[in-house]
Amino acid sequence: MMPAPSAVLSVRVTPAERDLLAAAAEQAHTNLSDFVRRKALEAAEIDVLDRRVVTIPAEHWEQFERWVHAPAKPVPVPDEASAPFFDGALHGELMLLRCRACGTYQSPIAYIGVPLRARCVTCFCGELEWAPSSGNATLYSFALMHQLYDQAFAAELPYNIAVVETEEGVRLTSQVVDCLNDALEIGMPLMVTFERCSDEVAIPKFRPL
Ligand SMILES: [Zn+2]
Repeated sequence: MMPAPSAVLSVRVTPAERDLLAAAAEQAHTNLSDFVRRKALEAAEIDVLDRRVVTIPAEHWEQFERWVHAPAKPVPVPDEASAPFFDGALHGELMLLRCRACGTYQSPIAYIGVPLRARCVTCFCGELEWAPSSGNATLYSFALMHQLYDQAFAAELPYNIAVVETEEGVRLTSQVVDCLNDALEIGMPLMVTFERCSDEVAIPKFRPL
């Protein structure tokens, strides 16, 4: 009988290898922890199939076990209306809606309970087009989530939920990453980054400049 994937991993990565992993994660538009998790799971599959041994850093073993056993986070399913937004995100671009008449930018995301605005919020023109944001933003507001609603997020409590205002004046609900909660500050400059959830979906998040 085949062993379970999590039972066949051994442990070791040098600082140089860690740097390589971080660079690869950056190129994959994700962060190191998610990248390592994905690579480790791929490696576990290879190990089961080919009987090869794979290494995971010793100091990250407990974290790795939590990743392996945590249920997957929900991943958005793009539809026809949101496809340009998610296509942009896959290619490292934060896509917004822009009015063809007056150039006002607005949110590409429908708020809960409110349908996506089909007209310009400034001049009411009905012709909106997709246009990329510069990716620069500032932190408009945030909250820290201490309540566990989904086991997939257990390892991240307390995590922040942030409203950012892009350079184009559009406010989006997102998350600030690569930043300690204590370092969050209203008005801090941010830059978009993309968390890769699958081969098809990436989610824009923001990191301090
Ligand atoms: Zn307009």
